[in-house]
Amino acid sequence: MAETNVGEGRRVAIVGAGPTGFYASDQLLGMGFSVDLYDRLPTPFGLVRFGVAPDHPKIKSVTRMYEKTARKDGFRFFGGVAVGEDITCAELRERYHAVLYATGTSSDNRLGIPGEDRPGSYAATRFVAWYNGHPDHHDDAFDLSATRAVVVGNGNVAIDIARMLVLDPDELAPTDTADHALQALAASQVEEVILLGRRGPAQAAFTNPELRELGELSRAAPVVEPGELELDEASRAWLETEAEPTNRRNYELLKEYAERPLGHATHRITLRFLRSPLELLGEGEDGHVTGMRIVHNRIEAGADGSLRAVPTDREEVIPCGLVIRSIGYRGVPFGDLPFDERRGLIRNVGGRVSEDDGTVHPGQYVAGWIKRGPSGVIGTNKKCASESTALIAADAEAGTLPEPTLEPSFEWVRERAPHAIDWEGWLAIDEHEKRLGEESGRPRVKLVTADDLRAASRGALTR
Ligand code: NAP
Repeated sequence: MAETNVGEGRRVAIVGAGPTGFYASDQLLGMGFSVDLYDRLPTPFGLVRFGVAPDHPKIKSVTRMYEKTARKDGFRFFGGVAVGEDITCAELRERYHAVLYATGTSSDNRLGIPGEDRPGSYAATRFVAWYNGHPDHHDDAFDLSATRAVVVGNGNVAIDIARMLVLDPDELAPTDTADHALQALAASQVEEVILLGRRGPAQAAFTNPELRELGELSRAAPVVEPGELELDEASRAWLETEAEPTNRRNYELLKEYAERPLGHATHRITLRFLRSPLELLGEGEDGHVTGMRIVHNRIEAGADGSLRAVPTDREEVIPCGLVIRSIGYRGVPFGDLPFDERRGLIRNVGGRVSEDDGTVHPGQYVAGWIKRGPSGVIGTNKKCASESTALIAADAEAGTLPEPTLEPSFEWVRERAPHAIDWEGWLAIDEHEKRLGEESGRPRVKLVTADDLRAASRGALTR
């Protein structure tokens, strides 16, 4: 364990002001480092603002912890500074003893099937960013005129999207869903969302509260055909012996849903398993999606014991006019850092940025999803960050952190990113959004354009 003052007189730049960036900031401040937290957007909190579903305000309340961190001595926030564009990674290296990249995974995995990019087929990353008011996506357009949508994937992002598509406008109204999305979703024609899993009900990646929530919506109900829940021998044995309690509870919940009458629900989320998309079919001048050709799968145990989906020769077409692909996020290359294309991560050894052959880049670290991949809940990133910040402390103690040759001055940041804002600037935005929200009984009304955010921040760096 590092001395609590091991960081004294040393400064760290953290790139990416999401949960991981804040956990790492807090840990480093506690060890005596000073911390500059950079984000390319003027708003902090990353996926808490732009990923967490708007009808999950409790999850968002984690930002109170991050606000406490931001008030600590030694912390500075530089919002609206794009590292890799406004300033380079090399320039950070010249000015800090260490740089920690917590840039997350902003892209999406591809299905790799014909028709994937037809009009009416969208990546989850885009849809989520749109309804959450991400400035890069505020003017994206989604055609919600179809009555049936298919969401591909059996993770929590897929379930968030399915829910957002069938929530009653009254359920969405008191949330911080971006105004443009509130309007579009209120006019949506979607009545059924099919959640499509390539493996079986035992292997679904949902967590229990998220699956349970599907049974608690005001106008929509989950639909599971009993036949969907028949388990093959391998899955049954796995569920009984090796599976996590989450998988077992999910399976029980699905059985409850299979027995439940539809009642008065006007909208439904239909869960279908053991099916993979083969092709998106389309019609009309622009080839808009009209259906999905799928193959039925069976489960097969691989040599390592893992249970995989293997296609059978049974195919089917699901008529649908909207497809959202939610099969996992993926990191993108960043600045001049070594990138592992296969895994979609900044190449690293346990959190130290490294080359293919394991050669470490001194003073360069990663944490969060860009280090280990998009897994776990928000709190998982606290532990992940602590592993990386422990390395920074250990390297400081061992005297292996490079000595910076330049100062990261306000003037330098301001010159390179004239629109940069500090924490006071964010607080001004926050206050403005909350005030707008009060008028309509919402937690906030998000500003969704870079110009509006800048205007509300009331100017640039002040200290
Ligand atoms: P995820 O949990 O990894 O789920 C990805 C899903 O996509 C899996 O069902 C996976 O199936 C499927 N998939 C992958 N490749 C596929 C393919 N080629 N064809 C068909 N299906 C494919 O990822 P996520 O939903 O993007 O969520 C990311 C992380 O954020 C997760 O840890 C999640 O729990 C977390 N999250 C949490 C919350 C919350 O707590 N409320 C909300 C949103 C996200 P296989 O299992 O067969 O690979």
